[in-house]
Amino acid sequence: MSRAPGERREELAAGLAAVRQRVETACEKANRDPSELTVVVVTKTFPASDVVLLADLGVRDVGESRDQEAKPKVAECVAAAGPAASLRWHFVGRLQTNKAASVASYAAVVHSVDRPKLVPALSKGAVASERTVQCLLQVSLDADPSRGGALPADVAALGDTVASADGLELRGVMAVAPMHQEPSAAFARLLEVSHRLREQHAQADWVSAGMSGDLEQTVLVGATHLRVGSAVLGSRPRLG
Ligand SMILES: *Cc1c(COP(=O)(O)O)cnc(C)c1O
Repeated sequence: MSRAPGERREELAAGLAAVRQRVETACEKANRDPSELTVVVVTKTFPASDVVLLADLGVRDVGESRDQEAKPKVAECVAAAGPAASLRWHFVGRLQTNKAASVASYAAVVHSVDRPKLVPALSKGAVASERTVQCLLQVSLDADPSRGGALPADVAALGDTVASADGLELRGVMAVAPMHQEPSAAFARLLEVSHRLREQHAQADWVSAGMSGDLEQTVLVGATHLRVGSAVLGSRPRLG
């Protein structure tokens, strides 16, 4: 399976171009300006060498879902210097309390804050590394606890907790499409949660929703951040 690096670069360039085209088309339909949208390229399971190529191709935002994998990958990218050294890392996966301080040492944005216990751990990590970490509250749209996310009814209190923590900035909400429901109805609920949160915290206006399979739908309902993996990098082995 070993291939020339130039070939991989071309694959990634083609994936990025295809995603940018989809985003533009979706924006035209939704009457939105593509500059309102941030595409986070989710690089989990792919090597740091891919992240370096993506940075060379102009990607600024990359996402990871496990600290064990992300931490050494961030270090490799920093060591590679060049544009990969100044990427914005987004943590999008389920977060364990005992990993929160580590994640806060490199993540610019954590998309998966879903319970109060995480907040002091993230705050401590951010303060210790003298950084500000932007936080999104992950909202459960199907009340399935195994997939993470706060219940919509708990979002207001969680938002207050994040907003008052040192080193953290409350920036909005995030969701993953529910498994057995009509996605557009679920995303409409996410938008409702987002509007309610903004009544208390005006700056919390980011909505992270939309992956390779459903980004058109979420652009239509008002997503600001898309988390796109396989459409750029190709299919990945199942995570163990
Ligand atoms: C892996 C992952 C993505 C990207 O998924 P694709 O279907 O490959 O685009 C987005 N969000 C989260 C939370 C993920 O874990």
